[in-house]
Amino acid sequence: MQIKTLYKKDIIQGSLILVNQHYPFRLSHPNLCFFQETTHQIQIDASRLLKQCLQHLQIQDEIIVSSAYRSALEQKQLYQKSLKNHGQAYTQKYVAKAHHSEHETGLAIDLALHEDDIDEICPNFPNTGICQKFRDFCGDFGFIERYKKDKETITGIGSESWHFRYVGFPHSLIMNDYHFCLEEYHDFLKCYSLYHPFVYAIGQRVFEIFYVPMIKEQVTIALRNDDIYQISGNNMDGFIVTVWRRSL
Ligand SMILES: [Zn+2]
Repeated sequence: MQIKTLYKKDIIQGSLILVNQHYPFRLSHPNLCFFQETTHQIQIDASRLLKQCLQHLQIQDEIIVSSAYRSALEQKQLYQKSLKNHGQAYTQKYVAKAHHSEHETGLAIDLALHEDDIDEICPNFPNTGICQKFRDFCGDFGFIERYKKDKETITGIGSESWHFRYVGFPHSLIMNDYHFCLEEYHDFLKCYSLYHPFVYAIGQRVFEIFYVPMIKEQVTIALRNDDIYQISGNNMDGFIVTVWRRSL
């Protein structure tokens, strides 16, 4: 057995953190890197997987990142600028307040068709052609379309066809499979525990996923010696543990 200790202070980081109007982003220094030769910064894993996805689909010259990491100050300025230029209704629908934007995590990207004139808040990323091709395949690389039309009442954000969020594999595929937004996925995972994990198979690969509530400052969990695992905080009240089993 391998014993892993989880600390409550760490629930604010990981690829599955939920950041919305109820749960602010609290990590002071996300692990960022510049995306290719651009000035956009993206969380390191998300950056690597985005590059792989665009290259795999051979659309790296036609789709660009229009926005990625923003500091809380930049988010505040964007909110105020939008308020001034577009008014309150539009701003509340599309722009999160400082500390409540996924862009502050480095895990979110806005994508746009490579055109001369790109809208800063609502870039052009239609549900057709190469943009749809990206949407259809990005789950294989750990990304989800975060704000869908039919989830507006849950996410609190208007439909944003251009905004993608890195949640990691296989969570992206499970969310697509079950048609969950991130809020719903976390509610779903709370039904599963170390002794009763959610089991999900993709081909020969089997994943066991479970929630660890942090009711104390630290909790230890025992995993099998040969378990390969990933742990992410949920930014609410616990962790999600993902165990990669070899096969069925
Ligand atoms: Zn966005």
